[in-house]
Amino acid sequence: MALKIITCPECEEQIQIDDQAKRNRCAVCGSVIVRNRAPTLPEKAKKPLPTPVAATEVILCPNCKQKIRINPSAHKNTCPLCKCTIVRKSR
Ligand SMILES: [Zn+2]
Ligand SMILES: [Zn+2]
Repeated sequence: MALKIITCPECEEQIQIDDQAKRNRCAVCGSVIVRNRAPTLPEKAKKPLPTPVAATEVILCPNCKQKIRINPSAHKNTCPLCKCTIVRKSR
């Protein structure tokens, strides 16, 4: 009979159980502890994907030198002031 100290899942007390037995009873709270060979790991909570923010970037228009808002994810943007096309250079 192999005794093992585990933490009771119910009362979280350190209790001695028979490692050979499939079922043990917690000496503290009396709950039945069923040992499973493969410890079930808590499933990793799936991280929600970051919600894409309608990102805008303020740049200086190369044509009219005014501060304008562009969509940084768009390849091409049009300056609202001078209507020139601003092509983003990918770094
Ligand atoms: Zn217990
Ligand atoms: Zn412009």
